[in-house]
Amino acid sequence: MNKIILFLVFVCLVLLSYSNQSDEIATKKNPFFSEFNTPFNVPPFNKIKEEHYLPAFKQGIIQQQKEIEAIVNNSNAPTFENTIEAMESSGILLTKVRNVFYNLTSAHTNDELQKISKKVAPLLSKHNDDIKLNAGLFKRVKAVYNQKEKLGLSSEQNRLLEKTYKEFVRGGANLSPEKQAKLREINKELALLSLKFGENILKENNAFELVIEKEEGLVGLPQSVIIGAAEAAKERDHEGKWVFTLHKPSMIPFLQYSEKRELREKIFKAYINRGNNNNQLDNKAIVSKTVALRVEKANLLGYNNHAEFVLEKNMAKKPENVYKLLNQLWKPALAIAKKEATELQTMINKEGKNFKLEAWDWWYYAEKLKKAKYDLDDKALRPYFKLENVRDGVFAVANKLYGITFEEITNMPKYHQEVKVFELKEADGSHIGILYVDYFPRASKRGGAWMNSYRKQSKQGGQEVFPVITNVCNFSKPTGDKPALLSFEEVTTLFHEFGHALHGLLSNSTYRKLSGTSVSRDFVELPSQIMENWAAEPEVLKTYARHFETGEVIPQSLIDKLKKSSHFNQGFATVEYLAASFLDMDWHTLTEAKELDVEKFETDSLNKIGLIPEIVVRYKSPYFRHIFSGGYSSGYYSYIWAEVLDADAFDAFKETSLFDQKTAQAFRKNILERGGTEEPMTLYKRFRGAEPKIDALLKRKGLN
Ligand SMILES: [Zn+2]
Repeated sequence: MNKIILFLVFVCLVLLSYSNQSDEIATKKNPFFSEFNTPFNVPPFNKIKEEHYLPAFKQGIIQQQKEIEAIVNNSNAPTFENTIEAMESSGILLTKVRNVFYNLTSAHTNDELQKISKKVAPLLSKHNDDIKLNAGLFKRVKAVYNQKEKLGLSSEQNRLLEKTYKEFVRGGANLSPEKQAKLREINKELALLSLKFGENILKENNAFELVIEKEEGLVGLPQSVIIGAAEAAKERDHEGKWVFTLHKPSMIPFLQYSEKRELREKIFKAYINRGNNNNQLDNKAIVSKTVALRVEKANLLGYNNHAEFVLEKNMAKKPENVYKLLNQLWKPALAIAKKEATELQTMINKEGKNFKLEAWDWWYYAEKLKKAKYDLDDKALRPYFKLENVRDGVFAVANKLYGITFEEITNMPKYHQEVKVFELKEADGSHIGILYVDYFPRASKRGGAWMNSYRKQSKQGGQEVFPVITNVCNFSKPTGDKPALLSFEEVTTLFHEFGHALHGLLSNSTYRKLSGTSVSRDFVELPSQIMENWAAEPEVLKTYARHFETGEVIPQSLIDKLKKSSHFNQGFATVEYLAASFLDMDWHTLTEAKELDVEKFETDSLNKIGLIPEIVVRYKSPYFRHIFSGGYSSGYYSYIWAEVLDADAFDAFKETSLFDQKTAQAFRKNILERGGTEEPMTLYKRFRGAEPKIDALLKRKGLN
């Protein structure tokens, strides 16, 4: 008997040491567990394998738990340094793996990564709650917070203290243990729902294809679009045919040019029904559940609804203020959109066609009307917007404004061959940071365009950490022997995302938590949207808009047409956007946690504002990723809110000159460098000398 036990103990010991050994080997090989040892310490994408993530996440969580325990058990009285700063510098490994992982699940995912994210989501949700609901830790934070006036903190330190304290309160630190347990459950469930929502959309987006078998199905389409569709067909095993997908660079030109009305309807309906096909990828139940859980959470924390909970920390502060701005713009925008619809209908009638304008006709007739009214079409512009020229154009704008330079580095690790890497330097040659750009659509990438960071700028404890930032987009790809030629809308998006990148790259903050784009949602779009203004200025166009074959500068006549047509279709664009903002607010001002009929709720919400049937809300609920699988719930209004800011801010340049050095320096020093280190309105006023006025926006949109 004893012998058997001894033998078993022996076996266990052997197994234990074996598993320790294999753990050690895994640790040695796992790039997250050591210095990256790459140029500028960027992630070693070539060495990171799928199996490295989960162990790094788990170890990262354990490490931070230990760090937090050490803070709680510190026998010294709580101070700013031993509590707030100590928390800020904890979780280095977790941040490192999280940044790489979530960048890749958006930009270049696969089934394996999706599986890992499902395992990680509850772990992170729990870990986050373990920190926010740690009573001992909150006691110390509160102790520091309660004596903040006496501590002689800098404004940035004050801000960090304030933000940290509020995160605890908003995370449930003041709730009873029973309510905290409930909150944990809700957070975990919400994390998984958000993940599933995004995954469903990605699959729905990739699942649909419009296969055109015969050439007659291509009537109206420009040659470059046809070549692109033939290439897509080849990639998707339909060689010799043509394929259109729901990716914007494929779908939009089809809607603009295809004379086949029934095919336009088909692709359009596929697009607006994503997540609403009553199959296993349907998102309606997820929407309903998410909204109900958000109300429940808000109520637990003492708010009437989710919007109140979210807006408290934004510039808008309250739902009323958001509705006020939306309502102010809605009426004039809707009036213009109705006029536009009438013009399009007139065009249909003139063609002798006997049908009523529908949503899938809008793009097609708008394109035709633009041609008729301004002799301008998308096809004529694209040759002047070769991707590389536009990119170099935005670099040149940043150089003229801030003196910074850009140099491509080719020997950097990448996660996909289409990615390009640039180093930014100050005028004196000192290093600023690294920018990745990843511009083309693929099945492994989610839709849209975004900026994110692999590493945020900070300099806590005097240690400079340089930022590593990325821009990811879904632009028109090169087709046949032609390079990537962008639409003007894509040009604007490129400038926009680059503006976010500058916010991250030029950040000059001590703490990671306040660095770069760590600002409220309705302020974060200021640095991005202001950049869009330069894209359209004639003086700037002449520097970057060159014909891809001849190098000829964009002719003045095209610039004039572009300028003249700048209000064209703005009623449509503003209305489809505002409608989505109303819908977001309506979902999140519900005060009762109950599950609802998603389609009915949405229809009611849109009928209430009088949306016309010829225009579909920019995002219907089952694919409204911003609010159900992104960070924009009760925040989709932010774009128009920030437009008030950016139009007013850009006026400062118009009042002086486009590249006025004093204004540029003031924008850099007071906005771009300051991240979230102070209240946004304080920063804004320091730049502009006054609060923003709405006039500039109304004028720009032609709504005044
Ligand atoms: Zn943006």
